[in-house]
Amino acid sequence: MMKHLPRLLILLVPCLAPAGELEDLLSGSPTLPFAAEFDCVNAFDLFASFASLHCVASAGPPNAGDAERIDRALRKLRHHGLVTAEEAAGTRVRICPLMNGTGLVPAPGRILLDDGLRNMGDELFTEILAHEFVHVRQFEKLGTAEFKCAYVREMSRCGGCQDDGHPLEKEAYDLQERVRALLARIAEEGG
Ligand SMILES: [Zn+2]
Repeated sequence: MMKHLPRLLILLVPCLAPAGELEDLLSGSPTLPFAAEFDCVNAFDLFASFASLHCVASAGPPNAGDAERIDRALRKLRHHGLVTAEEAAGTRVRICPLMNGTGLVPAPGRILLDDGLRNMGDELFTEILAHEFVHVRQFEKLGTAEFKCAYVREMSRCGGCQDDGHPLEKEAYDLQERVRALLARIAEEGG
C-alpha cells in the first residue's frame, strides 16, 4: 500500500517510546495534548490524517473522468460479485496524490487512490480498488479501533512491512491477485 520509513517511524512510536518520554519530547507543543496517551489508534490516525490532508490539499482541480472511472471499476467488481451494491454505495472513493503507494483506507468507508493511477489501465485501477475494499471490510469486521491497532501492531511486528508478511495486507493482496487473474482471463477470452 505504501512505502515504509516515515510511516514506520510514526507507527513504532507507541510501541517503543518509554512511558512519559513522548510527552516529555512534545512538551511545549500545546497542539498535541494527547502525547501522554498516544497509542496505536493515534499512530494510525496521525499517519492517515497526514496522508489524507496531503492528498486532498494537493489534488488540484476536479478531474472530469474520475467519477466515470471509479464507476466503471465498481461495476466490474460488482458484476463479478467482488463488491456488493451496499458496499459500493457506502464507500466514498477519491483520487488524489498519495505520498507513497497506490491506495489508502484512512477511515471506514473511505478510499483514497493515487492520481498516478489515472495514467494506468482500467485493469490495474480495478485490482487496486478491489485491494482497498478488503481494508474497508476489515474496518467493518474488526471495528475501527481494533483495525487501526491491528494494522499498527502487525506492521511494527514485521519491521514495517506492508506486503504478504502483514496479515491484513496479505488478505488484500490475495484478492488483488485473484482480480488480476480474472481480468486477464476475460481479456484473453475477448470478453
Ligand atoms: Zn493494503
